[in-house]
Amino acid sequence: MPEACDRCGAPLMEIDHYGEPLTGCLGCNIWRGKQLVIQLPEEDVQALRKLRRSFKEEFIAEYEDGTQEVFAVLQSASDQGPGALEIARIVAGEWQRDGKLKPGAIMKVRRPSIEELIEMYGKGGRG
Ligand SMILES: [Zn+2]
Repeated sequence: MPEACDRCGAPLMEIDHYGEPLTGCLGCNIWRGKQLVIQLPEEDVQALRKLRRSFKEEFIAEYEDGTQEVFAVLQSASDQGPGALEIARIVAGEWQRDGKLKPGAIMKVRRPSIEELIEMYGKGGRG
């Protein structure tokens, strides 16, 4: 499953559409399930945007020793498109100085996969 929209590069989001899991992009408003591709009504897209904006976006720091830790970046900061990973890297450094993330060389900062997001939030998401 791709982690980013192949049209605009935005992170993909998983939603539950009447029991059918769909993966799509808020920017393009194209949502794909196993057998269908749909566009959502504008009100739904707006609602999803608001929901998403209220969230912090999780990133994963991969350490030199092979361990990894999840940390959150405010959605407003991570909404910077292609610069989001750069911002996340800076936030990770600040968090290490503050002791919120363990010390050690961070080899890579990446977005969680959809599978990891589902693990973090559960199938239905938060609230
Ligand atoms: Zn897109």
